Amino acid sequence: MAEFETVIAGAGIAGLAAALLLARSGRRVSIFERTAVHYEVGAGLQLSPNAGRILEHLGLGAALDAVAVRPVAIDIYSAAHPRPVVSLPLAGSAQRSGGIYRVVHRADLQAVLLAAVHNDPAIELTLAAPLVDLKSTPEGIDFSIAGRSHRARLLIGADGIRSVVRPLIDPSWSPAPARRTAWRTTIPADDAPADLARDRVSVFLNDRSHVVVYPIRSGREINIVAIVEEDWEGEGWAEPGDPEAIQAHFRKAPTLLADIIAAGVSWTRWCLRAVEPSGPWHSDHAVLVGDAAHAMLPFLAQGAAMAIEDAAILARCLTRQPGDMEGALALYERLRKPRVTRVWHAARQNGTIYHMGPLTAAFRDATMKALGGERLLARYDWLYSWKQNA
Ligand SMILES: Cc1cc2nc3c(=O)[nH]c(=O)nc-3n(C[C@H](O)[C@H](O)[C@H](O)COP(=O)(O)OP(=O)(O)OC[C@H]3O[C@@H](n4cnc5c(N)ncnc54)[C@H](O)[C@@H]3O)c2cc1C
Repeated sequence: MAEFETVIAGAGIAGLAAALLLARSGRRVSIFERTAVHYEVGAGLQLSPNAGRILEHLGLGAALDAVAVRPVAIDIYSAAHPRPVVSLPLAGSAQRSGGIYRVVHRADLQAVLLAAVHNDPAIELTLAAPLVDLKSTPEGIDFSIAGRSHRARLLIGADGIRSVVRPLIDPSWSPAPARRTAWRTTIPADDAPADLARDRVSVFLNDRSHVVVYPIRSGREINIVAIVEEDWEGEGWAEPGDPEAIQAHFRKAPTLLADIIAAGVSWTRWCLRAVEPSGPWHSDHAVLVGDAAHAMLPFLAQGAAMAIEDAAILARCLTRQPGDMEGALALYERLRKPRVTRVWHAARQNGTIYHMGPLTAAFRDATMKALGGERLLARYDWLYSWKQNA
């Protein structure tokens, strides 16, 4: 049996970030990733300052800037208004939150993290290596990969919403479908409607649906995510979606929004699911980070950001208490839970606000307009200004 000090299950954003941060604190880390080819097509991510700051600290700021876009604002449209109801000025927020807001293709972020992992001699990454047959023992976590037995003194479950590590810690766990589907596509920027602003995030609130649009790949492509209320419960994160079905959803939407949806040629669907953050996140030799611990609805664009924050705090706790792993894991859970729980619920609440019907939407729009972009953004200072030592 091969024995490891620290194993990470999963090389998604949580796993790669955790590996880099743990290696930086002096640990040797082995990552095992289920899939063979490690990239994802067709999706963007908003990378808010609270997470960007950690990646900059790892020296990845320039690599990120080479592929990302720094949006100047978040414009919020509502079905009843042809022009944005309110615009949240992100350029100003950089001064306030002390960080940069970026939008990036997920595969580009993954590639930046992977390059750093490959350059770090303390990290060993094995692809096409799913962990199976996991078992807790007093000495560590036993598992198999391709028929070979292994033991990890510390196993970090960064294996996403269908985690195989989670049942070791929380047997009652199950991700709950949110009765909402994310339809996603990217298009060349040249194919987007001429009226779409290319330098910002545009959020279109519609009747019981919403659409988020922003530039990625240094502005060459536009990412489009449409969230609609549906009972479909498909398992995959990128099942093919019929363009006519999503166009039908937005046929009566304002012209700009209908045109954006019509510009999408090849759509994928993802049934949104969430995992309550209240369950346990660690046992004696295992701990969860990212979606495995607390998958959240994407209405605050914080799932990946929280995964990166988790990684930073876990590395710090393990460094602070080198001879007391159980104490370090308990401290990690204690430090992370209040913040993640707040973000998790704020994301859920945004879903309700974004999907209001026409009557309540009128009140919502009037409130947003009265508050104005600066004050609306200031309501998220607690989120974006977060620093590791806070
Ligand atoms: C539509 C949509 C839009 C989003 N937009 C944003 C956004 O703008 N900003 C943001 O911060 N977040 C966003 N999120 C959330 C974000 O995508 C997730 O929170 C984040 O990707 C979670 O990362 P993770 O590494 O925890 O999990 P995952 O990305 O799921 O990675 C898990 C990894 O573990 C591997 N794995 C699984 N099982 C095993 C096993 N047995 N052995 C080995 N490996 C295994 C998988 O192959 C995978 O590579 C969005 C989510 C959705 C659905």
